[in-house]
Amino acid sequence: MDKERLEFFRKYMATICPTGYEEEASRVWRDEASKFADRTWVDLHGNAIAVVNEGGSPRIMLAGHADEIGLQIVYVDKNGYLFFTGLGGWDPQILPGQRVRIKTDSGIVLGVVGRKPIHLLTPEERKDVVKLEDLWIDIGAADKEEALQIVALGDAAVLDYDFTELRNGLVVGRGLDDRIGAFTVLEAARLAKDLNPKAAIYTVATVQEEIGVRGATTAAFGIDPKVGIAVDVGFSTDTPKLDDMKKQIGEADLGKGPIVGRGPNFNPKLLTHVLAAAKANGIPYQVKSFSRPTGTDARALQVSRAGVATGLVAIPSRYMHSPSEVVHLTDVENAARLIAHTIASIDDDTDLIPG
Ligand SMILES: [Zn+2]
Repeated sequence: MDKERLEFFRKYMATICPTGYEEEASRVWRDEASKFADRTWVDLHGNAIAVVNEGGSPRIMLAGHADEIGLQIVYVDKNGYLFFTGLGGWDPQILPGQRVRIKTDSGIVLGVVGRKPIHLLTPEERKDVVKLEDLWIDIGAADKEEALQIVALGDAAVLDYDFTELRNGLVVGRGLDDRIGAFTVLEAARLAKDLNPKAAIYTVATVQEEIGVRGATTAAFGIDPKVGIAVDVGFSTDTPKLDDMKKQIGEADLGKGPIVGRGPNFNPKLLTHVLAAAKANGIPYQVKSFSRPTGTDARALQVSRAGVATGLVAIPSRYMHSPSEVVHLTDVENAARLIAHTIASIDDDTDLIPG
């Protein structure tokens, strides 16, 4: 990945954007988009939108969700400990002992997730899985009054982890699900612009995917596209303990190309276009079967209004919904190229009606 792109991605990954609190990430994404898009804006829901070739036809919508999973402060007890709920789907086992960054009106506040020490757990408690309600956040406040001068009810937090490079093209970060997707759709629109597209390309950093693909639902209604492509992370199966699961979920390795979805959530003729674009441009890909609507923005896109010809391009990812998700940058570049070439091949005469 070239230096300029990676620099933007680092800046984007440095933002804190838990579900429903995506404003900071949205600003960084739009700043970058405004370098090449015809125009950029934010809709009432918070979706960040950039359009390339606005007068073109048909309309194509690309969606990558900007939000990451987070925590939300619900209650402060008399001793100043903060109790929280999840924004999106957590594995609570990950949380004890972690530091968190709480996003407040006056800046970031550091806290730690507390739990009873192992020595003090009863034998029964040791066998139990950790639940969110067993945990609290300690910001070092003396009492409830002081805590509420520092944080407010409803403030959101993320784990205290930064984006960094691993080796062999692998990068690790908190919230790569799915800022990597929001990055990819922006990059795809940038590349497509140079391919003389006939279509108008609306690329969207959607909000609130992690609580039910909500941003993509409203953005798709507003944009009313003929074609929609979602980019999210997809499980890779190249780590220990997943061998047996390949029979149920298929397989994908990091570095072997983006995952392309096939199944009822996707338009078969659009898939043909995607695979043709891959072949014509020598782009590697990995096909995965999805037997039902995916838990991605593709789910909302497909059933918007009278239906949208929908596809999914996923970035193979390890350790999803942990603070150390891992992806391969080459897969990201290939995903953007694949989408750019696919949408550049679509015009008003492109028949996408199944049959
Ligand atoms: Zn996601």
